[in-house]
Amino acid sequence: MCGVLGIMGLTNLTRAADLLLLLTHRGQDASGLAWTENGTIKSAKAIGSPARIKVPSLSSPLILGSTRYPTSGKRVVSESDFETFVGPFIRKNLALSHNGNITNMKFLSGKNYDCDSEFLTDLLEDYLNECNDDLPSAIRKLSSAVDGAYSLVGIHNNRLFAYRDSRGFKPLVFGRTTEHVIVASESEVLDMADLKLSRDVYPGELLIFNGMNMESYSIRQNETHTHCFFEFVYFAHPSAIIENQLVYDVRFRLGRALASNYVRMRLDPPDYVVPVPDTSRPAAQALAEALNVPMREIILKNRYLGRTFIARDQDERDNLAKNKYIYLEDKIRGKSILVVDDSIVRGTTARMIVSDLRARGASKVYFAVTCPPQSHPCYYGIDISTDKELIASESGLNEIAQYINADALIYQDLNGLINAIGITDLCLACLDGEYPTEHARYIREQIQNRPADEECRDYERVFEK
Ligand code: SF4
Repeated sequence: MCGVLGIMGLTNLTRAADLLLLLTHRGQDASGLAWTENGTIKSAKAIGSPARIKVPSLSSPLILGSTRYPTSGKRVVSESDFETFVGPFIRKNLALSHNGNITNMKFLSGKNYDCDSEFLTDLLEDYLNECNDDLPSAIRKLSSAVDGAYSLVGIHNNRLFAYRDSRGFKPLVFGRTTEHVIVASESEVLDMADLKLSRDVYPGELLIFNGMNMESYSIRQNETHTHCFFEFVYFAHPSAIIENQLVYDVRFRLGRALASNYVRMRLDPPDYVVPVPDTSRPAAQALAEALNVPMREIILKNRYLGRTFIARDQDERDNLAKNKYIYLEDKIRGKSILVVDDSIVRGTTARMIVSDLRARGASKVYFAVTCPPQSHPCYYGIDISTDKELIASESGLNEIAQYINADALIYQDLNGLINAIGITDLCLACLDGEYPTEHARYIREQIQNRPADEECRDYERVFEK
């Protein structure tokens, strides 16, 4: 998961950084902007949010942006990491921003890359050289070679382009006027720029914007699209429209579906439904309405911390989680509380919240989750890349309920999830282990026969034949 942005049409760089800031929830490790200036491509990068990027006070006709979430390589710790870890990556007349994760980089590349986005940039440059600088031909070669998820925005020969892998794992949308084109991971960027959403970039489609002309090339068609369901449940901003579905509405419907599960379990109505901020708020609202009990926001978020989910290691995640929530103790004492969260990954945050509520006098704590149990790692763009990071990979529902110490654990079921999202062509691999791409399946086969590597993501291992 990362955020990508492309702008064509004269735009101030500070304004571009403001637009990129809207994609910080997709990656807060580092961020970068690249732009054309007198025929050359320049860049500025920063550790953390785009608000920290120092850009010159000028306007450029072509700008790229990237917010980084590390699914390959380490966290960015100093400016010396910028060149090989932080996009956009620049090669002569080419620059590239990438969202997703390439599963076969270790197999394709002779070089040890720090980050798959740089690998993609080099590969595309090689293919452009082989194809007389013809972008559609080079992208065709790229899409035959790489396995995984990749939504790309780039600059090539003073044109803006966008490409989305043929399965459409990660979102990519665009909008345009007579003066501007914007391509972005999420549609709220277009809203902020006063552009109407034109549509999603179709899976397997290459768009090239040349001046205000748009060319569309069908590069690679896959009969099955596998849009990442977790974008709807967790990653994307609630105002984003992905595949014609408003994420807010999806989350609301997830809450309604959870209410049916709660009723089926014949549990007593709680005194309050309480969202874990912020993602689960629409679901909690729907659940409260369906159960006819009040929703109360008695777990408040420390706004000055980032998303714990995208912290790089468990220690940092635990520390962030500890400082993340503030509780309204007076409203908790003696009450039975139905907590709603978007997912249980390692189980440590859920366990901490239940324990904190009990310590403040809650009489009962039920825990509802808008996502079904995630029992398999993701190889396509979230940094949960090994089984050992997932409590549901080896524990059943009763064990998880016991571990988090809830009076009842109410999970979303698969039908509820799919109906709420409203489209059926989804990637569900982290729920059912059905990986849609060939190399990811190969990695799973290898993992079955080899012990887990504590140090390494599954797709960063090289398996001896
Ligand atoms: S495995 Fe899960 S998180 Fe990863 S792309 Fe598929 S649905 Fe999304």
